[in-house]
Amino acid sequence: MDPNELYQELILSHSKRPRNQGTLPDATAQAHGDNPSCGDEVELYIKTNAEDRIEEIAFQGQGCAISQASASLMTVRVKGKTTAEASSMIDAFQSMLTEKQEQPPPEFLGDLRILKGVRQYPQRVKCATLAWQALRQCIESNNSTNQPPAG
Ligand code: ZN
Repeated sequence: MDPNELYQELILSHSKRPRNQGTLPDATAQAHGDNPSCGDEVELYIKTNAEDRIEEIAFQGQGCAISQASASLMTVRVKGKTTAEASSMIDAFQSMLTEKQEQPPPEFLGDLRILKGVRQYPQRVKCATLAWQALRQCIESNNSTNQPPAG
């Protein structure tokens, strides 16, 4: 299958049937992201354990196919990862879409590498990164509430 078809299919599959959709009543952090230029919204919930691993993740949202598919793919990919690993993925995903010099995306991004196609549509980059910014906020607020101050 050519990369463009794969891209279309992945976006369609995840926007029609989002994974990890819903809320987490016992979330340890929650963040909201919105992208007014497109009308996309994402509410993200994570639950981390004592080892700072993301045990549960869920999102609710509305908006274009790319924003919802990216949120869905993200939840699948970061579930079970530590917040440090998830932070590396956020950075790598963001660079994949915004670095001027195109680089082959790191393998740990898995299926998410398909979203590299969004590079061709600069106005959609915000759609694709919306959930990731919400995840970054979740991790930051999680760290500030759970961690003892670094000494
Ligand atoms: Zn959008």
